[in-house]
Amino acid sequence: MTSDWYRDDILVGGTWRPVRRTHQVVNPATGWPVGCAAKADRADVDAAVRAAGDALVEWRATPPRVRAEGLTALHTELKGRRDELTNCIVAELGAPIRLAREAHVDQALDVLAGFVPIAEELAEPERAGSSLVLARPAGVAACITPWNYPLYQLIAKVGAALAAGCSVVAKPAELTPMSAYLLADAVLAAGLPAGMLNLVPGSGTEVGAALVGHRGIATVSFTGSTAVGRQVGRTAGEALQRMSLELGGKSASVVLDDADLPSAVRATVESACYNSGQTCSAWTRLLVPRQYYEEALQLAADRANTLAVGDPTDEATDLGPLVSADQRTTVSEHVARAIADGVRLVAGGSERPPGLDAGHYFLPTILADVSTADEISREEVFGPVLVVQAHDGDDDAVRMANDSDYGLAGAVWSTDQSRALQVAARMQTGQVDLNGAAFNPVAPFGGWKSSGVGRELGRHGVHEFCEFTSVQI
Ligand code: NAD
Repeated sequence: MTSDWYRDDILVGGTWRPVRRTHQVVNPATGWPVGCAAKADRADVDAAVRAAGDALVEWRATPPRVRAEGLTALHTELKGRRDELTNCIVAELGAPIRLAREAHVDQALDVLAGFVPIAEELAEPERAGSSLVLARPAGVAACITPWNYPLYQLIAKVGAALAAGCSVVAKPAELTPMSAYLLADAVLAAGLPAGMLNLVPGSGTEVGAALVGHRGIATVSFTGSTAVGRQVGRTAGEALQRMSLELGGKSASVVLDDADLPSAVRATVESACYNSGQTCSAWTRLLVPRQYYEEALQLAADRANTLAVGDPTDEATDLGPLVSADQRTTVSEHVARAIADGVRLVAGGSERPPGLDAGHYFLPTILADVSTADEISREEVFGPVLVVQAHDGDDDAVRMANDSDYGLAGAVWSTDQSRALQVAARMQTGQVDLNGAAFNPVAPFGGWKSSGVGRELGRHGVHEFCEFTSVQI
């Protein structure tokens, strides 16, 4: 354990300032305290926004090439701290160490690297007929993040904002603030100008709410639940602030009748259980051809029952605990209600696996005989729970996939790539992976419908932090 994880300070204008109140961080696998973070207040927010405004003057005038060099220096610093970042995410979130390293840290580094050439591109105005279109920094950005990918979410926002020439006030989630401190340390060590990143950990209702609608904030980048996203959207809308909202999901994995069924089912179960099911873009609805329904259920149960649930510090573990007791109660109640409503439990459905006497665990759970009207197929559970449904062909599968308030991600499985692409193009969702294709850190990421407004990552993500000026020549 390192003292870097016990913090009582906020970062304002390049200086760490102690505050009176702190908040304990608890390891969800053991229930033991592993760190603490400052609990900032509204006055701290005002100071941080002022410092970010001061820093903006220099940073927005910095040539994009120099901003790109700053991002590269930050990438180098973070890479040098890979092990500490990984251990921190294991401790604060309970993510299994292999996943923490690859999905939380390395993927965040890939996203950051993706912003470097885009920062450089901003030096060249786009030509639109007789106009030059200048992409200019929008101003001070408020970046508010959830607990499920604490480092990744913050880097996706801070990297894009800095690439665009914005300065940032960041508010991490209360449950997982420690990796945000490590990111802030790396920003300072990378030599980025003081005040580019200001860090104000604290509660959503106090610090988050003070940032949204704040007169010194030009743009709000929020990732979190749809319910809080709506509130943020209302306040930012009233203030006519730019906003991007990355919210919840209930994504469909669509298996066509010519697909490799075992691969498709296996990958979908793994997606639903990734990060213990606490992934906004997880495929949590598996849609399979009716004639293969029972076979798919057996394959899904087999995979769910062989995923290794347990100690997150063990390299062999696939699923650690959920982030908190409250989160486990939420998941458990969703599953209990579904079963009471007549849904068939095919695997899992219970809490701590045998042999573990602590931790907020929930076993990988497969549910069958679920209709598209059932709550369990409509609401985000945010735990390792997959519902399996039968479809009657491509049109029916598209209809079912789109019969959702959400539209964040999805998958299509078929041995015919052009058929899969046709289905993907009809899905009302921000991302679709064909046959398990890899995540792309520079492709736009974001949601349709209740999954949000705006896009993150790559050029689209950087443009969320830009204002555009057309100059007719
Ligand atoms: P949450 O909405 O409770 O909190 C998110 C952040 O908002 C936290 O930092 C919180 O302190 C802050 N907050 C709370 N109330 C606020 C307010 N009134 N004003 C401003 N900020 C406020 O979400 P969570 O429980 O931390 O995260 C889980 C949710 O995030 C899930 O619904 C998940 O789908 C979603 N999520 C979405 C994406 C995406 O990219 N679409 C990615 C990750 C997580």
